[in-house]
Amino acid sequence: MDIWPKEKRSEVMSRIRSKDTKPEKLVRSLLHRMGYRFRVHVKYLPGKPDIVMKKYNAIIFVHGCFWHLHDDCNEGRIPSTRTEYWAKKLLGNKARDEKHMNELTNMGWRVMRVWECEIEKKTEETIERIINFLGDVK
Ligand SMILES: [Zn+2]
Repeated sequence: MDIWPKEKRSEVMSRIRSKDTKPEKLVRSLLHRMGYRFRVHVKYLPGKPDIVMKKYNAIIFVHGCFWHLHDDCNEGRIPSTRTEYWAKKLLGNKARDEKHMNELTNMGWRVMRVWECEIEKKTEETIERIINFLGDVK
């Protein structure tokens, strides 16, 4: 496996970013091109994690800011119409996320969550964070 140096990463990131790519797909294709291998939407694990890397004992969730109610984020707000309906739904999602992440941690996985807005606005920084999180595994 060949993990790319920083310059090469930036080049690839800018190329992929220019396309209209959904955040989760973007993360997946960047990691994949960098040589990481993983499974996606693993059904038998709590929360059906987006990215599962057994080799790294790591799980990554890419969460949409609206549906997963990102704190301190413009997108992560309960709508002002049908507030009761949305509050119930979105707070429910958030509570479920916490539960799933705790379950996975208790099972011995290392769990990381990245937000849509982080991927969209700070792609490189966020990918760096993921790579640091994964660490070196030989
Ligand atoms: Zn956000």
